[in-house]
Amino acid sequence: MAAIKHRRTALERVEKFLSDTYFTDCNLRGRLFGDRCPPASLSYFQTRRRIPYEEAAVQEFRPTQVGESFGPTWETCWFKVELSIPPAWAGQEVHFVWESDGEGMVWRDAQPVQGLTKEGEKTSYILTRSLKESEPHSLTLYVELACNGLFGAGKGSMIAPPDPDRRVTLSKAELVVFNRDVYELLVDLEILLDMAQSSGLDDLCGSLPTQDILEQEKTELSEATGVFSSTFCSKAGCVNHGPLEWAYVEFGFGRHLLGEENQRSFQALYTANQMVNVCDVTDLSTLPAARDLAAAIFSQRNGESQHTIHAVGHCHIDSAWLWPYEETVRKCARSWVTVLHLMEHNPELTFACSQAQQFEWVRSRYPGLYARIQDFVAKGQFIPVGGTWVEMDGNLPSGESMVRQFLQGQRFFQEQFGRICSEFWLPDTFGYSAQLPQLMRGCGIQRFLTQKLSWNLVNSFPHHTFFWEGIDGSQVLTHFPPGDSYGMHGRVEEMLKTVKNNKDKGRVNHSAFLFGFGDGGGGPTQKMLDRMKRMSDTDGLPRVQISTPDQLFSVLEKESSQLCTWVGELFLELHNGTYTTQAQIKKGNRECERILHDVEVLSSLAVAQDRAFQYPASQLQRLWRLLLLNQFHDVLPGSCIQLVVEDALQYYTEIRRAGAQLQEEAVQSLCRDLLQPEVRSTPSTLVLNTLSWERTEVISRPGPDGTETLALVTVPSMGYALVQEPFVPPQPVAVRKQEDGSITMENGVIAVCLDTMGHLTSLQLLDSGRESVPDGCYANQFALFDDVPLYWDAWDVMDYHLETRKPVTTLLKPLEITLAGGLRGSVRFSLQVGKSSTLSQEIILDAACPFLRFLTQVEWKEAHKFLKVEFPVQVRSTNATYEIQFGHLQRPTHWNTSWDWARFEVWAHKWLDLSEHGFGVALLNDCKYGASAHRNVLSLSLLRAPTSPDSTADIGHHQFTYAVMPHQGSFQEAGVIQQAYNLNFPLHTVPASCGQCSPWSAFSVSSPAVVLETVKQAEDRPEALVVRLYEAHGSTVTAWLQTSLPVKEAMLCDLLERPLAQGQVPLEQRGLRLSFTPFLVLSVLLLWSH
Ligand SMILES: [Zn+2]
Repeated sequence: MAAIKHRRTALERVEKFLSDTYFTDCNLRGRLFGDRCPPASLSYFQTRRRIPYEEAAVQEFRPTQVGESFGPTWETCWFKVELSIPPAWAGQEVHFVWESDGEGMVWRDAQPVQGLTKEGEKTSYILTRSLKESEPHSLTLYVELACNGLFGAGKGSMIAPPDPDRRVTLSKAELVVFNRDVYELLVDLEILLDMAQSSGLDDLCGSLPTQDILEQEKTELSEATGVFSSTFCSKAGCVNHGPLEWAYVEFGFGRHLLGEENQRSFQALYTANQMVNVCDVTDLSTLPAARDLAAAIFSQRNGESQHTIHAVGHCHIDSAWLWPYEETVRKCARSWVTVLHLMEHNPELTFACSQAQQFEWVRSRYPGLYARIQDFVAKGQFIPVGGTWVEMDGNLPSGESMVRQFLQGQRFFQEQFGRICSEFWLPDTFGYSAQLPQLMRGCGIQRFLTQKLSWNLVNSFPHHTFFWEGIDGSQVLTHFPPGDSYGMHGRVEEMLKTVKNNKDKGRVNHSAFLFGFGDGGGGPTQKMLDRMKRMSDTDGLPRVQISTPDQLFSVLEKESSQLCTWVGELFLELHNGTYTTQAQIKKGNRECERILHDVEVLSSLAVAQDRAFQYPASQLQRLWRLLLLNQFHDVLPGSCIQLVVEDALQYYTEIRRAGAQLQEEAVQSLCRDLLQPEVRSTPSTLVLNTLSWERTEVISRPGPDGTETLALVTVPSMGYALVQEPFVPPQPVAVRKQEDGSITMENGVIAVCLDTMGHLTSLQLLDSGRESVPDGCYANQFALFDDVPLYWDAWDVMDYHLETRKPVTTLLKPLEITLAGGLRGSVRFSLQVGKSSTLSQEIILDAACPFLRFLTQVEWKEAHKFLKVEFPVQVRSTNATYEIQFGHLQRPTHWNTSWDWARFEVWAHKWLDLSEHGFGVALLNDCKYGASAHRNVLSLSLLRAPTSPDSTADIGHHQFTYAVMPHQGSFQEAGVIQQAYNLNFPLHTVPASCGQCSPWSAFSVSSPAVVLETVKQAEDRPEALVVRLYEAHGSTVTAWLQTSLPVKEAMLCDLLERPLAQGQVPLEQRGLRLSFTPFLVLSVLLLWSH
């Protein structure tokens, strides 16, 4: 009989046939499971530690039962489950079903076999596909249950600080008979229903739920449906529902579906309706006829022009975020063992897996699992990608840190799996430095995958497949999966979104589709695979093939002739608070980058001086790996919980401690003759310089009576000198108090005037008399802003915070002179900031120094406030310049277009500069990253105070230094770059016992445009050094690298230290002749001659 043409009743009829809420007594879903049987026994023990299986299995287990709850948060319960399968189930598929709101791992025969996580749709462990009499019917399983969810334990909302008292409940533990035919038919019908659904796409914005409602209903919904997706409102420029929230597929909002105009939608609907007609749920022998109807429609194929989706299994695991590093180790094991289990039954499944650190965790903690992973890597199914140690933040790590992410990562992948990765993989990071293309290419990578720019709050990024060009001109082929997610579920609407959303239609006809639960782990499921099998080539839907990143990029490379090029940074117009949040982590990163730099330079020089000196290669590797781990994209950005912050700070402490010891050993070896006490020796001070230019600076050293004394010293590049006495400063610093309480300081280079509140009212270059501070303006003005974002607290500072500016005006202690001049002049004052915070500052001017330094201490006790310091300057320019990794770039100082104003808060490394022709002012810092330059005001972002996900974020004591440097000419000519390095890499002083020694330099570079940044021992090659230089001015230049070290041979190498073809560099009288184009990074292998 023909179907009555009522679309809604037909649709809902099919829905109810699949429902797990309604009519389960008579619908298909109700038949999914057959007989059930409880475990023969269930017992447990609980521990605060994350212990290995061997230790757990010998504990004393106590009886427990389903319905009990366990906790509190972060504890672990181990369950011993004795199972006895009824003999009557012969021939049936038997599952062990386990449901709880914690994260579980099943152990069998002392090996992990599968993760069980309700939020990741994994509640079944398949014991047998068809029970045979010969199989053991009795067995013992262990379940290791972490008392936290896939997303930690946020109290009330996902990103709220963890609830320390959360308990997890064991809601199901039983044996069931699984009806596979029912399951297959359910998948068929679900896909047909998805094809049949419709909704208007773009006018739903007004009816989308807000974030609050979503959060409230999240638990309820995910429990009801088990599906929780990150599908966003698709309305362009929508602020309420942009990337700020996680909307539910089940709401049907913003869905990409075929719609009522599409004939395929009706075909699917009427087929599904007919399938319900022919299916008698009380007689499973009627199912094949229904399945045949589905197969008939699925096998109707596409035309040749159809888009191809490359589906790759994936599981984004944040190395730490709403859970600590230690839990991530287990998340990796749980997720990956499940992937292997799936691969055993689905030989076509591919799985892209990033982050060498996570492989290393599993290698050391789960050797059996790791060996199996290696097998699947060899088969080409388990595919290491990314090439980095962790998926690091894309903005804040230094150039050398970025190189080490790849060096440590690629070397690990080469060692463990016999090949390096050929694509950079960073789907979830908060923006991408314009230096990355060059660094990728230097590390054997010409392809890049991410998707995070789909989170842009203001502008929609115009491409999904394009060439990305960095500041030096290097290009990499870049792909954003057009579905705007790395956690797809293989649903019809995700496929349709991928096709419809693709901004490069007509240019490329292939795109990536990463499927699997992510962020907290979980990964792909059997159901996702089963859905996609049915969609492999079905008219109306894109072709879907299980693929590999290499297959995808290979076809994109072939289709690349029509692609556009994006030049410069990939700036994320969201999460700009992450440049500032968790200031101690930022400071730890900058300091530890400096420490490891210095240890490497000094250890390399020590090797050159004394071949008996052992370069601390393995210790340095260990410390680098700690630093690189903390650069993970929820740690360095500060978007993690307090437990993670504590771990991260402890790693920095370890780097500082071990680094200091290694540095001491290197210096002792390098300067042994100068440090050994001699008879009739004169006590003196040895000063070491780890930078590649000569420096003349005031240093502080212990005097004879234990007090600090000052000295002016000139130290050659990458070398040392003794303090020469007596020294005559070129011009002493003069400090004078004026009648109105203001204080002037000058050193022959600059002259400053400070009022009683520490404002800089005048800053002049003495040579020209050029004033930097506009009339009537205050520089060094602190300002406090309200800082309440829409949702992502630790992440976001919103545009509207700028409207809440309040200058800090409460004086606690007026300006007073602390050092009267000579080699150093200084003044001090303190302010009340906000309701309960205080700030005190020492402003220091050294002889011969071109900048004024602000040594700042803050007792910070705010919540949702943002502290900045502002420098209005007498400079007019439409662009400001910001230092990035191995170079710099410009960003506008105006808000002409949405692309301009969306960058109201940006990041920089050691300096930013605003210059007009002939004059400019630079702002330097020693541990800050957030900044802005609007019109003529330079601002440095100092402290934030978010309360989620760490309610204690940034509360406490802070110390940091920034500096202001006015300059004649361009910042390049004025040496701003070198001065910012000087501020960040203080000279080292060591008491010496020798009165005389000539200054010694290991390396120098003839051009001020070229910075020699890194000197280290080559990896695994004690007979060679690697030096890394870059062109810092943005110019084409030839430079000579001179060295006094015994070098016999030099050759250019890539960033992985592999010699380049024709890379030989002759050793000439003047050194090595090196040619640079703007921002080129060059690495040179130097072989020792002894
Ligand atoms: Zn992430």
